[in-house]
Amino acid sequence: MKHHLIIIGVAMALLAGIPARAEIKIIVDRNDNDLAGPEFRFKNVPMPSVNNAATGAKFVIVSGAVDVNSGGLDALNDGKLPTEEDEPDANFFFDAGTHGGRLLADLGSVRDIKEVNTYSWHPGARGPQVYKLYASDGTSGGFDAKPPQEIDPEKYGWKLVASVNTKPKGEDAGGQYGVSICDTSGWLGKYRYLLFDISSTENRDNFGNTFYSEIDVIGKGDVAGAGTTAATNTLAAPEASWRGIATNAEGKTLATITVDTTQAPDMAAWGRHAGELCAEWYPKICQWLESEDFTPPKTVRLRIRDGRGVAGTSGATITFNANYFRRHSSDYGAAIHELTHVVQAYPSFRGSNANPGWVVEGMADYIRFSKFEPEAPRPRFRPDRDKYDSGYRVTAFFLEWIEQNYDKQFVKEVNAACRAGKFQMELFKQHTGKTADELWQEYSNWLAQKPAAVPGK
Ligand SMILES: [Zn+2]
Repeated sequence: MKHHLIIIGVAMALLAGIPARAEIKIIVDRNDNDLAGPEFRFKNVPMPSVNNAATGAKFVIVSGAVDVNSGGLDALNDGKLPTEEDEPDANFFFDAGTHGGRLLADLGSVRDIKEVNTYSWHPGARGPQVYKLYASDGTSGGFDAKPPQEIDPEKYGWKLVASVNTKPKGEDAGGQYGVSICDTSGWLGKYRYLLFDISSTENRDNFGNTFYSEIDVIGKGDVAGAGTTAATNTLAAPEASWRGIATNAEGKTLATITVDTTQAPDMAAWGRHAGELCAEWYPKICQWLESEDFTPPKTVRLRIRDGRGVAGTSGATITFNANYFRRHSSDYGAAIHELTHVVQAYPSFRGSNANPGWVVEGMADYIRFSKFEPEAPRPRFRPDRDKYDSGYRVTAFFLEWIEQNYDKQFVKEVNAACRAGKFQMELFKQHTGKTADELWQEYSNWLAQKPAAVPGK
């Protein structure tokens, strides 16, 4: 996670004898791709707000052309934010292959403006923001609200307020950016018109036009960052009966959890609780199963509907069979098992790189039983039938025993290998000094000698 704070003074040297003038501040925050979330929560820049002077403003394209995949101009001030890192129609951006353009915002009347805040989100070069902000009250002679492209707007009654360039040096540019243009005096000035003279971030390919997600103008009476409702706006997504946010220990958003019970309305309360549990346990599971360069899915969907079996997971979508959970309403452990599959997120490797099912399911039950239900009865041990590769809880308790007796990081190591398509039985020997067969023999002996330690007999 990286946050960049850059404060650039644009104007104003203090000269002897001249009264101290206020100084423009440009505050830039970036959430890198790993931790950017749908709330647009930043370290220093306020979160987007739903009600501000830009909410009723009229945005007009002065020059440049909109991209066919872009959302409309209202994406800039509708208070709705993208929920994912690459969501074209939730953003406004200029046409691919062009170098930006000019946008006019007419606030309708002259307003006392405190801050202008701009937000963008894209995993690549369309994340950073490069623009000049001009402002005018529209009263000066020769004012033109639509100054021609290539001509300095200051010749048409505009004042340059700030030059913004959030491109990071020498590293990937992608991520979520928040820019706040404010003033040490507390007030930017009295303006009716704002002109955003927007440049592409790069010219190496056609895809350098920034995905602008929202523009806020904070005036008198507006509260910056009053926009926790901006995030709840995403509740409007029709499939969500319930929505929660999973955050890590530092309060950063890891994922949005949505629950859809529209096809089983009687399960709404059950689904909500499952959603709450997933929001609570997702960060823990992500930590237990962390591996280098891995980012867990940022949206986890729970669907409860009539079907077969118990539950299944495809990608980051978990489907629960309502028929089963009506009869087994306390079986929330099944949700933790499925949630583990979401975090595993193993690519489908083929041939000798394929991950054995008993490992994948054993780990899901390991998280379920060892972490979520540590008091749950251990299964009856059936030496004639069970082996380490029986899968599910048989494998789960074997993994637990290995961690308790040999290597506390064993499951994490196995998980990392599975994500990389590098699972092999040698892992047992590498991490414990013994083969899986030798370990299983030892585990079996221990179980046989210590029946009291195996609840559920
Ligand atoms: Zn499973």
